Amino acid sequence: MQFSSSLLENAVNEFAKLPGIGKKTALRLVLHLLKQDTKEVGQFSEVIARMRSDIKFCQRCFNVADGDICSICSNSMRKQEVICVVESIRDVIAFPKTQKASDLMMQCPAKVSDKQLAELKIRAEPVEISWI
Ligand SMILES: [Zn+2]
Repeated sequence: MQFSSSLLENAVNEFAKLPGIGKKTALRLVLHLLKQDTKEVGQFSEVIARMRSDIKFCQRCFNVADGDICSICSNSMRKQEVICVVESIRDVIAFPKTQKASDLMMQCPAKVSDKQLAELKIRAEPVEISWI
């Protein structure tokens, strides 16, 4: 791809670093932003920068949060004695949207085997998570 502007090329290259975004899609996104009001693009970039710099991880479950404890762990309506262990943060985000979700959520850094669960005396029950 030939660019007449190094600023445009730099922006396309940065967008193309995102997962699932190729150069053509990156160019489309950049050209879209180029058509937007300067103030709107400034707000967009500020939101992205603040998300990265200000986001925290819950001290209890490592879920993403605005404060020290996430909204799931701070919800007194949830069962404190039952936890749900999931593999990725995407599952944590989808979890509260399920009607049956009432236990706490823990993000697991890796898959846990049945043997490991047995050693910890944890009973695992599969939960169907509907995606957004
Ligand atoms: Zn939490």
